[in-house]
Amino acid sequence: MTIDLHTHTAFSDGTDQPDEWMAAAWAQGVTTLAITDHDTTDGWQAAVEARPPGVTLVRGAELSTHLVQGGRRYSVHLLAYLFDPVDRRLAAELARLRADRLERGLAMVDRMVAAGLPISRQQVLDIADGAPVGRPHIGRALMAAGLVSSVTEAFATYLSGRGPYYVAKADTALMTAIGMVRGAGGVPVLAHPRSRGAAAITDAAMIRSCVDAGLVGIEVDHPDHGPDARADLRRLADQFGLIRTGASDYHGSNKAVRIGQDTSDEDALRAIVSASSGVTPLIGPEPR
Ligand code: AMP
Ligand code: FE
Ligand code: FE
Ligand code: ZN
Repeated sequence: MTIDLHTHTAFSDGTDQPDEWMAAAWAQGVTTLAITDHDTTDGWQAAVEARPPGVTLVRGAELSTHLVQGGRRYSVHLLAYLFDPVDRRLAAELARLRADRLERGLAMVDRMVAAGLPISRQQVLDIADGAPVGRPHIGRALMAAGLVSSVTEAFATYLSGRGPYYVAKADTALMTAIGMVRGAGGVPVLAHPRSRGAAAITDAAMIRSCVDAGLVGIEVDHPDHGPDARADLRRLADQFGLIRTGASDYHGSNKAVRIGQDTSDEDALRAIVSASSGVTPLIGPEPR
């Protein structure tokens, strides 16, 4: 069983439609796959329809959150598994995040247009095609304009959080988001806590606060984590009795990672299933 618990489709900022996403997983031998699009459950139905009989599907999402520490605001991503997609409080918050993504994405485009970059609001909306707008969609417009040759290059330049075009999102407070996910019967797992924004603040004190708020797991193995980060996160997870997961954070051709590049073990999957309230079950073969 090869288990990848963090992937994106074209329902957020990945490039694969769910059938292509499932085919990519199958080609890499991934037999348990989580769909974790940003701030939406809109891809769940198509993912269910794309599932071949031998594959286990875990329905989830990735929420954008923030944590304020020492007067600074840090961006932290939170994975949420097997939550009730119609839970009023969580669904309303996801809708708010999507609305904010649209406004913020267009504000970034406006800054670029004002600086003379040859892209447009309509072009980015067409690329997003109804998905919650993310910087990768703007990156594809910059590629189409010939300004960069990849989305990764766009992130290093025009899309950088330190650059002149960046606009922050109105993310949920991390501890509130953890509580919302638990309230919806879901399982909150800190996403890539040693990547970019969150790296500076992920320590024992921070994890303790998250555990007090209801955190269940930490994504230990992730393409952005080097050996030291992984060892450190493994220690932190064990210290607090948290589930350790691993995953690729696949985004199709928007990111240079392969689906199944990092994986979770069956114990982690079993622990996630038993920590959920069962409203949204796994679909397909259960881990033994
Ligand atoms: P946003 O959520 O709009 O601030 O955009 C950040 C998102 O872009 C994160 O989900 C990243 O995983 C994603 N992303 C996709 N491709 C890249 C890349 N090449 N470099 C950095 N982030 C990327
Ligand atoms: Fe993303
Ligand atoms: Fe993320
Ligand atoms: Zn992700």
